[in-house]
Amino acid sequence: MKIKFPINYLETCREVKTDKKVVSLTFDDGPCPQTPAILDVLKKHNVQAAFFVIGRNISGNEEILARTAHEGHLIGNHSFTHTLWFPFFSSAKMLLDLKKNAETISNVTGGQVQWFRPPYGVGNPMVAKAVKKAGYKVMGWSLRSYDTSSNNSGKVVERVKRLLKPGVVILLHDRCPNTPGVVEDIIQHASAKGYEFLRPDILFSSF
Ligand SMILES: [Zn+2]
Repeated sequence: MKIKFPINYLETCREVKTDKKVVSLTFDDGPCPQTPAILDVLKKHNVQAAFFVIGRNISGNEEILARTAHEGHLIGNHSFTHTLWFPFFSSAKMLLDLKKNAETISNVTGGQVQWFRPPYGVGNPMVAKAVKKAGYKVMGWSLRSYDTSSNNSGKVVERVKRLLKPGVVILLHDRCPNTPGVVEDIIQHASAKGYEFLRPDILFSSF
């Protein structure tokens, strides 16, 4: 299900409305040296997630990105530069940035990227124009873990546990040192409560 947020200009998939205990995990800002430990946890629990990757982080981490795609995770475009200035780029400059990232990803994975998540979650008319031209679907989130602003992994896990409900899409970052342990705890808790993890594109197309 798609929810329209006019204030953000972008038609963004953030969560689905359902009573079924299904949720999704998403990871931003990789690939990075931390990513394989996260992949190990996901593999152990047979969970598929989405990774929104930054193009400039791919150099040197090609094998990690290839493994992520090979293990069935969704690879999304999170811009090449991920600069703080991205929201102020012209739509033409944004489009170039997105295409550069898409090409870099394709060169490694052989796949075509279909989903985009704006850097810093900022949607504005320029982003909307670039996304429309690139033909991307946009994925946001509905459960922000605040993992980037807390070193206390217990607090991050507690927040996710507290806000967990059917249909949510959880935002995490591969680059945070505690993420592998956080993911392990979230999956264990959610599974014990009867939740199933769906790859988010499958979540959005199923409900
Ligand atoms: Zn980001």
